Amino acid sequence: MAKVIIIGAGGVGTVVAHKVAANPIFTEILLASRTLSKADSIAAAVNKKVGANRIRTATVDADNVPELVALFKKHTPDIVINVALPYQDLTIMDACLEYDINYLDTANYEPKDEAKFEYKWQWAYQQRFRDKGLTAILGCGFDPGVTSIFTAYAAKHHFDEIHTLDIVDCNAGNHGMAFATNFNPEINIREVTQPGRYWQDGQWVTTAPHEIHQPINYPEIGPRESYVIYHEELESLVKNLPTIRRARFWMTFGQEYLTHLRVIQNIGMARIDPVMYNGVEIVPIQFLKAVLPDPKSLGENYTGLTSIGCRISGIKDGRPRTYYIYNNCDHESAYQETGTQAVSYTTGVPAALGAAMFVNKIWTGPGVFNVEQFDPDPFLSELGPQGLPWHEKFDIDLEV
Ligand code: NDP
Repeated sequence: MAKVIIIGAGGVGTVVAHKVAANPIFTEILLASRTLSKADSIAAAVNKKVGANRIRTATVDADNVPELVALFKKHTPDIVINVALPYQDLTIMDACLEYDINYLDTANYEPKDEAKFEYKWQWAYQQRFRDKGLTAILGCGFDPGVTSIFTAYAAKHHFDEIHTLDIVDCNAGNHGMAFATNFNPEINIREVTQPGRYWQDGQWVTTAPHEIHQPINYPEIGPRESYVIYHEELESLVKNLPTIRRARFWMTFGQEYLTHLRVIQNIGMARIDPVMYNGVEIVPIQFLKAVLPDPKSLGENYTGLTSIGCRISGIKDGRPRTYYIYNNCDHESAYQETGTQAVSYTTGVPAALGAAMFVNKIWTGPGVFNVEQFDPDPFLSELGPQGLPWHEKFDIDLEV
């Protein structure tokens, strides 16, 4: 039995609200966000669906620690699920430490003025969470999140040593728009325009953005051009699973998407530094976010599948082995259930389930944890029933 505060009333927050409300271990649920009307409309939809007044709402500026602490004092949650933006991770962690609340998020902290994905800022909270006997669970979405748990599961059950890890993330959905991002446009564009980076023999190798690419076959989808980009779970996975010699992250992009992205960059609209416009300071990428489709609005006409998984090679009982573990998620089914598309769905389901793992004292302990540090079995046995079934293939051609 637990009280929870969800912070962030976006696409992912919508799914978390649906899943948390459907789980009776959460006795009191508050959805708090910057724009109250967005939280209200999510709460109204969820309350109508479950036929009870399960979710209350509040407004909060999660950049402001005293405001967060006041909210925590008023509602005394056991855990906070942070599905606002990565910029708010540290202020929310600070407020959790101040009022002794446990913490879970789905994306690592990023400074606003530098597109940089590193755990160092959040790992620096380790001692403070330990000293307080509090738990912070980092990166509990799909990637990071389920991909990290898939890797931990592979290491526990199918390998004595993992040597190569290729996380493959395909969105074969069609939303019918000329250009849109599947989650927060600012965060998404910052992520995919970065130089590529992967782990090889104990060090990071940097590439030009989208330099390495090849077609990869995805189950029930077929071949899709896939690009090596940097993704944050690589950093914690190579630390926590030190036998990994090479770790890469592949994401599919269509030609149309890449052309738009190139134009956006070339004309300066991906800039994250402020510029003066009519005497007002604006950040071009934030302005762009305001004119692009809201990712939440894509759901209605979205068709097709996402397919995300881990392709792994290594050694078991002295013999080489390959292994592929993945989930496919259907945009239309995700929309029917929660009113959002599969990218938000695949992130929100694991976040709600991770919080339930904490409340049930299955994933617990003092300190700051990446999800691969917990037992993967209880989480994965619940993931299918919660809406994200997963599949395994052994001794196949990994293609990568
Ligand atoms: P959205 O932009 O749809 O939603 C973000 C929400 O946070 C909005 O409601 C926004 O408020 C709110 N918010 C932003 N700033 C503040 C603030 N200072 N105080 C309070 N609320 C604030 O994003 P998504 O739902 O698409 O993504 C949510 C998170 O999930 C992001 O951190 C993203 O990186 C992560 N993510 C993780 C994935 C994974 O697999 N691990 C995959 C996809 C996303 P407002 O409505 O006023 O703008």
